[in-house]
Amino acid sequence: MLITDFPHEVLMYLFRFLSGPQLAPLRLVNKKMLDVVSQDAVWMDKCNREYNVKSLTNWGFNSYYELYTQVLHKFGFLIGIWRAVMSPYGSLIKFEPKDGKVLGLELSAPCPPNINSPLRRKLLFSIEVEDSEVKTLCHMGPNNIPHQCNIFAVEGDKSLVKFECCVEAAHRNPGGMRREFEQFLMDESSEITEIIFTGKIELLQKFWVLKRFESGFDMVRIHIPTASPLTILDAGMYKGDYNMFGYELVLVSFSEDGDTILASKVTGDPHVSGGEKAFEIHLTAPILLREDQQTTMSVVQQHEWTVVQSYEEFPEQAFIIPQDCLYEGPNMPTTCSARFHGKFQVLSLSQNTADLFDCHLIVFNRKLFTILTFETKQLYCFHRVEETSL
Ligand SMILES: [Zn+2]
Repeated sequence: MLITDFPHEVLMYLFRFLSGPQLAPLRLVNKKMLDVVSQDAVWMDKCNREYNVKSLTNWGFNSYYELYTQVLHKFGFLIGIWRAVMSPYGSLIKFEPKDGKVLGLELSAPCPPNINSPLRRKLLFSIEVEDSEVKTLCHMGPNNIPHQCNIFAVEGDKSLVKFECCVEAAHRNPGGMRREFEQFLMDESSEITEIIFTGKIELLQKFWVLKRFESGFDMVRIHIPTASPLTILDAGMYKGDYNMFGYELVLVSFSEDGDTILASKVTGDPHVSGGEKAFEIHLTAPILLREDQQTTMSVVQQHEWTVVQSYEEFPEQAFIIPQDCLYEGPNMPTTCSARFHGKFQVLSLSQNTADLFDCHLIVFNRKLFTILTFETKQLYCFHRVEETSL
């Protein structure tokens, strides 16, 4: 019996297990296959399963076949999370199907000092149908007037894409560069007066660097690990307080053997760029410190090899910020659930280049930890991004 002899319903069922590109050539086999593959229910299933698109509403097509072949087959691979490469800064970009479009949103850490606020969302791209034509639009610029751009994969595995704006003039503010910088400051800070006095130089530098990427940048696909109840803290995206550089996004995952926490920067700063290693923590080297072993940074270091066997059996332990630690953030809890040795990438004080230096990772709960660095005597706090959409 040939596959073409199977009844209609059986073929429909079997075709659920083929992807759209595998399915399309079957239309050429014979009239029966053409009939089955032309059933829109087959393509509705593909749109739903492969791209989570469940409705034709607002897409501007009469069939799921058109939606699949004209939009999702070409651009559906974008759906997911990407890191925009704007060295040294970078940003997090999420493509999602919504209201008859594929939208590309930039998700940024909140402005200091509101670390618990949700990520800021800004529309950068849309892929939509207008007059039966599929358009790729850039929404950057002072008036958010959509204009044409190109977004395309540069590798066969579709893990690297390029964005190119076709109308860069649309990004110019009619009020000139000064107005553009003012708008940038307002976007980057919730306390404009504070930023003017404390961080203007860093933001001015960032403004100029980011301007270079208005005409285009690359995006690298990111896979966000899911949290497991078996680990000491939840893997996933974290908002890290990088002091003078504001809040940055860091992706935290575990090594395959579960012995190491690995973190890479999604956004970066002039010291450590986006995409680089943020830190690595060795869970096989847990530490138990009493309060009197944490009075100063050097006292902590003297006792830092007070390693115990297994952190799972740890009691809550004392946590205090050493007197000479440079920390001006909100109060931290006075106990922690675990403490480990590791390496944190930070600017070397002597060599003016970033490197991995000794640190402690202090876990307060599954979604909050801090890192104490001995090279810079600083405390960096990390809060998990709680948006379920990531
Ligand atoms: Zn543009």
